[in-house]
Amino acid sequence: MTRLVLVLGDQLSKSLSALRKADPSSDVVVMAEVADESVYVRHHPKKIALILAAMRKFAARLEQDGWRVAYTRLDDPEAGSSICAEILRRAEEQGADEVLVTTPGEWRLIEALRHCPIKIRFHADDRFIASRTDFETWAEGRKQLRMEYFYREMRRKTGLLMEEDEPAGGQWNFDSENRKPPPEGVDHSGPMQFTPDEVIEEVLDLVESRFSDHFGDLRPFHFATDQAQARRALAHFIRHALPRFGDYQDAMMRGERTLYHAVISPYLNIGLLDPMEVCKAAEQAWRDGDVPINAAEGFIRQILGWREFVRGIYFLQGPDYTGLNALGHDADLPSVYWGGETGMRCMEQAVTQTREDAYAHHIQRLMVTGNFALLAGIDPAQVHEWYLAVYADAFEWVEAPNTIGMSQFADGGIVGSKPYVSSGAYINRMSDYCKACDYKVSVKTGEGACPFNLLYWHFLNRHRDRFESNPRMGNMYRTWDRMDAERRDTVLSDAGALLARLNQGEPV
Ligand code: FAD
Ligand code: SF4
Repeated sequence: MTRLVLVLGDQLSKSLSALRKADPSSDVVVMAEVADESVYVRHHPKKIALILAAMRKFAARLEQDGWRVAYTRLDDPEAGSSICAEILRRAEEQGADEVLVTTPGEWRLIEALRHCPIKIRFHADDRFIASRTDFETWAEGRKQLRMEYFYREMRRKTGLLMEEDEPAGGQWNFDSENRKPPPEGVDHSGPMQFTPDEVIEEVLDLVESRFSDHFGDLRPFHFATDQAQARRALAHFIRHALPRFGDYQDAMMRGERTLYHAVISPYLNIGLLDPMEVCKAAEQAWRDGDVPINAAEGFIRQILGWREFVRGIYFLQGPDYTGLNALGHDADLPSVYWGGETGMRCMEQAVTQTREDAYAHHIQRLMVTGNFALLAGIDPAQVHEWYLAVYADAFEWVEAPNTIGMSQFADGGIVGSKPYVSSGAYINRMSDYCKACDYKVSVKTGEGACPFNLLYWHFLNRHRDRFESNPRMGNMYRTWDRMDAERRDTVLSDAGALLARLNQGEPV
């Protein structure tokens, strides 16, 4: 009996568990570009184009390898509007009554498939270094789940950057060396870019005709769209950017959108790169003496540590996680997130490159757009939807714990032990944005005061009950308490006026 093998747009790996369980001589692979998946949030056009182009290329590769592929294009008049509808249509067409599925990375889709009226066999997605069970076992009985301890266990388990039982270089973590402000000049021209071929041009035309009202620029389009290209992009990063990745991991610069970051998350997240392959390539570069330990360790921690950790959290917490709102924030997302007018150079830089590239690096997401949303009390569900829509690498299993947890503290401290908030001083130290801003980072109240300065104290003051006793935040409250009462009143009333302007939709 023919079985169907579902391959989703972020499951483009030949080693996919559902493919391993299937038989190319009798089973049929189903791949579908369905409208629901492109619009359940209004994804950035570049993200839609990346996924569709990579799907088409992956389907062609499977066919070359001898698979029969039933592929549905978005503009196919027969196309069903959802994954389930497409499965049922193909099942009837192929005379199949069973579907092999690698468990999707999103509760919404898992639920949709569970309710699809056909026999579905789920197989674990094992394209991760830790399985869901590994994470659950590690988490069991722990009062707090902290990435650092999970990461150390993963280092021991995998042997990555280990020398016997000890961490390479004598330390687990070289963070203290990895917080340098922006360099004078950048000796790296950025990630490898690829010229669109015919397949991609056709996808770009389709996306243009269907999704031009979504936020984001479709062209120019330079992403890798198959495994070979993604591997070239990885090799380019390891050679040219990884050596300085550690040093400038937290820095931000005008005109240097990616600095020494890899820009490989879109490829990892749709299956074109394997996380262990990436970690091993970085480790090898260190063993060969081509990159310093602080760079190799800092980079591997992002993948072996953070990426695996947030996936574990997403599945451990269950489908209600995205609705959490521990701080009770309920303001609407201001227009600046959609490219609205602003005098804040840091926000303008992060949002402009998000619109143009569907990419911003971690510190821009965490300490600029995320920090501002948290300080301004924006509804975390709206913040979550924004991050899920605008980045090419955004898939809920990785985006939600980063947004709801790390960035917005809406999970009350499951991902992080304290909220990532800062005044303008941090942004000024780590970037050159403030030099070109309409506001003055040195001004704390009144005309020209940096909005981060005002909102930072407003946030701490309004959440005092929750955070005052947090040992990592005591210093912040002591500084606030040392200010004279009149100054504190002025800060709070200026911040209140700023929030009122934001709430009325006025530009800041
Ligand atoms: P690099 O800085 O070069 O890091 C290398 C790799 O490490 C990345 O490709 C990524 O796979 C991994 N990584 C680094 N940090 C994290 C992290 N915190 N969580 C998981 N993996 C990490 N990452 C996504 O892949 N998808 C998202 O939707 C996403 N949403 C985010 C939302 C917010 C609010 C924040 C603060 C972070 C988010 N991140 C997300 C994490 C991180 O910002 C991106 O992984 C990173 O910017 C990708 O760019 P890069 O490949 O140049 O990363
Ligand atoms: Fe951002 Fe404030 Fe610096 Fe302007 S002064 S760039 S608003 S941190």
